[in-house]
Amino acid sequence: MSEDNKAPERAPESKLEISAESQRWLKAGIALGNDPKALVLCPACGKANLEVIDAHAGGRLDRYIHCPSCKKYNVLTNVVSQKPPTKEP
Ligand SMILES: [Zn+2]
Repeated sequence: MSEDNKAPERAPESKLEISAESQRWLKAGIALGNDPKALVLCPACGKANLEVIDAHAGGRLDRYIHCPSCKKYNVLTNVVSQKPPTKEP
């Protein structure tokens, strides 16, 4: 008698390792991508609200979000604003 005692193959757990801080940056990016005036606490230090600087270049928009307290920043590239550009009368 030959017993095939194979252990069932297990796929290695593939958890995406995203730090809690990175997740907060992502959320901040989404919130500020939708509304640059949203008040979002700095994901890194939590001491200040993130500030937003929009940089228009060509037909695209980069949105720099930075913390005035700890100076960390992230860039959202090619933000598509949901609001149409204001037209001058
Ligand atoms: Zn900060």
